[in-house]
Amino acid sequence: MIIVLFGPPGAGKGTQAKRLEERYGLKQLSTGDMLRAAVAEGSPLGREIKDIIDGGHLVSDDIIIRMIDARMDQADCQQGVIFDGFPRTVAQAEALDAMLARKNKQIASVLLINVDEQELYRRIERRAAEAAGKAREDDNAETLKKRLEIYRGQTAPVLPFYRQKELIAEIDGMAALDTVTAQIEAVLEQHQQAKKRA
Ligand code: AMP
Repeated sequence: MIIVLFGPPGAGKGTQAKRLEERYGLKQLSTGDMLRAAVAEGSPLGREIKDIIDGGHLVSDDIIIRMIDARMDQADCQQGVIFDGFPRTVAQAEALDAMLARKNKQIASVLLINVDEQELYRRIERRAAEAAGKAREDDNAETLKKRLEIYRGQTAPVLPFYRQKELIAEIDGMAALDTVTAQIEAVLEQHQQAKKRA
């Protein structure tokens, strides 16, 4: 099963992805985590992208697509994956489609986690405070403003692409954590039932 978790920064994609990983035996593929790991390693790629990430801008589609293509072929992704923070542009969504067609796979559902902006600021500030000095460089109100602009300008336009394919399920991300998980699980159960009947 291939799932896309979609939503603005701070919507809870990472938290929910980790819960689904255990429950459904899927692999979370967070492009943000993969990029931060490259920065932490100090690899040439990491050095190239550090300032981009810290400023809340997007890393180039080319780098992201190559990274995901290689990662999807590894053994731990064969049961299925949860994309977290990918695709973030229409070009990435189109490349993902082509990539999955080549690998004979398809997206089961795109879960759009809706959270209002005021709440996103509260969450990012809380996340930074809880990280106690080890906060992500991009977890602050100023960079969140930039990340939200980019979400609206470059990432939200991916939604019509998936809407047209009737893949979107809307999730109320303002609800309590467990309620959000339950909403997502209900969508995935439905999908699994439909697949069994097919
Ligand atoms: P995230 O952890 O998903 O919030 O991502 C953190 C940062 O990594 C983003 O603000 C971007 O700079 C970069 N990034 C993560 N995923 C992508 C992607 N799919 N395309 C471009 N840049 C990305």
